[in-house]
Amino acid sequence: TDVQELLLSRIRDVADYPEPGVMFKDITPLLADPVAFTALTGALADIAERTGATKVVGLEARGFILGSPVAVRAGLGFIPVRKAGKLPGATLRQAYDLEYGSAEIEVHAEDLTGGDRVLVVDDVLATGGTAEASVQLIRRAGAEVAGLAVLMELGFLGGRGRLEPTLGEAPLEAL
Ligand code: IMP
Repeated sequence: TDVQELLLSRIRDVADYPEPGVMFKDITPLLADPVAFTALTGALADIAERTGATKVVGLEARGFILGSPVAVRAGLGFIPVRKAGKLPGATLRQAYDLEYGSAEIEVHAEDLTGGDRVLVVDDVLATGGTAEASVQLIRRAGAEVAGLAVLMELGFLGGRGRLEPTLGEAPLEAL
């Protein structure tokens, strides 16, 4: 579609970042373009409405930039999922494996409860490890995952295949 063409035209490929052999998808040109940024947040807010979400979770850090305006546009609250050690209150923590080593993410336990339907928002789905851990975290908090919405999916990394068994009925939407 025209919107997809616009969004794609504002994503910059950066070779050998953050390490040799990696082609990094840089969304900062898209954020700097008000027409593209508005189109993106509008499309993500449509997904929030379509999936019946009651809250938006954004994944640190670019998921904060995208998820916050989506929450406001959809009339929903925004919940940050952060790297471990950044949230001041009582948290739930979830570990996940990286290519080398592991990482941990956290959410404030009181921010999610039974009855919540959560749309998870991030910029790029790569291996799916971060998204899978966030889905586990949301469910451990007692909430339901309404769906996962990303700007871009790097299909060759197999994130969708990894996530589908975890997501079950909840849709994975990549713009
Ligand atoms: P995954 O856990 O391997 O799916 O990696 C996804 C996380 O890494 C997301 O939070 C993304 O923001 C980030 N990420 C991975 N690759 C890229 C990229 O090419 N551009 C921007 N972010 C990326």
